Amino acid sequence: MRILVVEDDKDLNRQLVEMLSEAGYVVDTAYDGEEGHFLGSTEPYDAVVLDVGLPQMDGITILEEWRREGRIMPVLMLTARDRWSDKVAGIDAGADDYVAKPFHVEEVLARIRALIRRSSGLASSQINCGPLEFDTRTSKATVDGRTLKLTSLELRLLSYLLHNQGKIISRTELTEHLYDQDFDRDSNTIEVFVGRLRKKLGVDMIETVRGMGYRLQAADDED
Ligand code: CA
Repeated sequence: MRILVVEDDKDLNRQLVEMLSEAGYVVDTAYDGEEGHFLGSTEPYDAVVLDVGLPQMDGITILEEWRREGRIMPVLMLTARDRWSDKVAGIDAGADDYVAKPFHVEEVLARIRALIRRSSGLASSQINCGPLEFDTRTSKATVDGRTLKLTSLELRLLSYLLHNQGKIISRTELTEHLYDQDFDRDSNTIEVFVGRLRKKLGVDMIETVRGMGYRLQAADDED
């Protein structure tokens, strides 16, 4: 899962990036409104943390433009405390949730998890697929009760496939959602990581759909 953080306060931006990276997300970051707007218009994010008060272009305007352009990723707004008008304007502009400053970073994390879950149509923080269980709060994955030891990239891959289970996901889409903007997208490493993840799962759940991509589903669902 790939997140964009748009926040001009350098310390706060760094804190958010650290916390989200630790939680297993890949994070792109912007410190002003123009850059944030550009990234959100051109890159596919699974969620965005967007400050309201930004230099060059404010968060409300950015969000209104994204929604006008048809960008539907979930957006969590960061608003100044006691500025109820910001919250109303943010929600009217298309925000999915907001957190008022100052906040605990854990609250942002919990709200981001919930937004991603809801945008995937999942109700619970525990995602199941056949013998595979994944707790989005702890990033713990088990197969038939056996805990998997996964690298952060394998975790991101598994999480993305699980949030989109049953759907065919192209290699390009996976690359876009697993790596940040600076990553060298040329490589065909996705295949390698899918291979490793398959081996660790030990059960045949990730299907290769020739010429199209991959699909995660419980064996029982197959034809
Ligand atoms: Ca600000």
